[in-house]
Formats: sequence, structure tokens, C-alpha cells
Amino acid sequence: MTERAVILIVDDEISNIEIMNAALEDQYEVCFATSGEQAIEVAKSVLPDLILLDVLMPGMDGYEVCHTLKQHPLLADVPIIFSTGLDDQDAEARGLSLGAIDYITKPIQPVILTARVRNHIELKRLRDQLAEMAVTDALTGLSNRRHLEHVLKTETARLARTGDWLSFIMVDIDFFKLFNDTYGHPVGDRCIAMVAAALNRAVRRAADLSARYGGEEFACVLPGATPEAGLAVAQDIQAQVRSLGIPHMTSTISSYVTVSVGVTSARCLPGMPFDLWIENADTQLYVSKAEGRNRIAANIFGAQPEVPNIDELRRIA
Ligand code: GH3
Ligand code: MG
Ligand code: MG
Repeated sequence: MTERAVILIVDDEISNIEIMNAALEDQYEVCFATSGEQAIEVAKSVLPDLILLDVLMPGMDGYEVCHTLKQHPLLADVPIIFSTGLDDQDAEARGLSLGAIDYITKPIQPVILTARVRNHIELKRLRDQLAEMAVTDALTGLSNRRHLEHVLKTETARLARTGDWLSFIMVDIDFFKLFNDTYGHPVGDRCIAMVAAALNRAVRRAADLSARYGGEEFACVLPGATPEAGLAVAQDIQAQVRSLGIPHMTSTISSYVTVSVGVTSARCLPGMPFDLWIENADTQLYVSKAEGRNRIAANIFGAQPEVPNIDELRRIA
């Protein structure tokens, strides 16, 4: 939310909208709806940062609008402030119990309105930042391990309904201890961030996720990716890292920073634990390291009766 926050004002009386708009338009992007039904439509299309919601409206009233918004995955967390002429504690309690964050009474006092809106917008900004930080690795900006495991778990369960493929990749920088020893820890940090950016360039589909799994180790979840597609992404990761051209004079396999990669693929089936993908990719990564580093090892696991030749895919790049 670096740009101006968006506020949706919902009220069936235009004069109320005008008063609230006059108080808010200098600081916020303001949009309007004059009925409950319209409020839902506008909210879905603009995804506001805050909603000022009239309780008493003909047709769908504020309570129903609030209830409906709270069921919507993208709108459930948008703060709602009820506005009503009723100076009624029961109405206030009902609004709050439906998930509204605050309450203002009419006639609107512009100073009170702007102060409350400012407070709630600031709180939302902090909440959004916290939510972002909870899933992000600070050094690289990639997802963190916890988020990766969450996504792997939900994606394998989702794909189990259709028996679709999921490929999983683990990447580890070769001889990184020596890199740190040679160039120093701060340069090591920069190297990790550059490899992360290279990974991001290779993992491009919207459903894919790349993460920092640990120190100099990364992982990628590729939902729907066949073994061939998983291997292609792994090859692209290796090529992107190679093209960074980061010198590594103490590596015994190259003058530049290289990575070893483990890829595993399976059709998702009901009841398959998500850690099978992690275990298999980790084993393949170990194979890459053991066979000399700067290479890719891949496997397929699970019941795959229609796959003709596993050895073909287990080729080493
Ligand atoms: P291999 O080729 O077998 O992977 O050898 P390696 O030296 O890369 O592996 P090892 O696991 O022995 O060492 C990993 C090194 O990564 C050791 C650790 O100091 C370094 N490391 C882990 N996290 C960070 C980090 O955040 N920043 C920096 N600069 N170094 C890190
Ligand atoms: Mg390493
Ligand atoms: Mg390692």
C-alpha cells in the first residue's frame, strides 16, 4: 500500500456519501455504492482497503453485506466500519459480532470519521506487512521454508483430486563454505541473493513457488509439472546461475559459482504425505553432489504404471 488506500463508502442516502467523501477524498481513493447488492459488486472489483458500511438500507442491509463479505476469500480481511443513525447498543454489538472492526454514528462528525479511518488504515497496513514478513525470507525476498511447506502440502492435496503431476526441485550452492572462506560472509550473502534472483527467473509460471529452504539451499514447488517439465525448469535454473558468472576461485569444479540440483516428480494421490517430495528431491540432490556437483539428478516416485521408462528421465545434465 504505497499508493493511496482505497475506501468504499456504502450508503443509500447520497447526502451521507457526500459528507463522508468530503472528509476523506483528499487522502484516499474513494468509491461508492448506494445499495448492499452494489456494495458486493464494487468490493469484488476494487478490493478496497476499508469499507464504511451503512446498516439500514432497503433490500440487502449492512449486516447481510458484512456477512457476505466475510465469506469471500479476498474480502474477508477488509476492515468494515458500520455507520448508522441508530444510537443503539444492540445494533453495535451485532455489527461487531459479524466481524466489523468499528462503529460510527450519524450524523457523521468529519473529525471523528477521519481519525477512525486513519487508525484502521494504519492497522491494516501493519497487518499486511506482518503477513508478508511471515512468509518471506528477508535476505532473498523469496518465500521462506514454512510457506513453501504449506504450499507443497495444500497443492499436493489439491492435485490429488485429479491425480495430476507435481514436481519438486531442491538446489544447493556448490562449495559454499569455501566461497565464504575466500570472499567473506557479506559477499556470500550477496551471492545467495543473486542465486535467488536467478531461480526466480527460471521459475516463472504463476502457480510455481520458489523458496529459500535453508542457508544456501533453495526449493521450488511446480504444481502440474510433469517429470519432463520439472527437468526443464531444473536445467533453466542451472543455466541462469551459470550466466550470473560469479567467480569462485576455490571451487574444484568450475571458476564460477555452480549449483547441484535434485528433482523429483510424482502424480499426486489421496493420502500421499507431502514430505515424500522433500525426501525424494533431497536424495536426488545428494546423488548430484556425490556424482561430482554442478549437475542435475531426477527421479519419479509412487505408483506410475503408465510411465514407460524411468531411466530415461534419470539422466544427468
Ligand atoms: P557442498 O558443495 O557439499 O554443498 O558444500 P558446501 O560448502 O556448500 O556445504 P556446507 O553445508 O558444508 O556449507 C554450507 C555453507 O553455507 C556453510 C555456511 O556458513 C554457509 N551459509 C549458510 N547460510 C548462510 C548465509 O545466510 N550467508 C552466508 N554468507 N553463508 C551462509
Ligand atoms: Mg552447498
Ligand atoms: Mg547446503
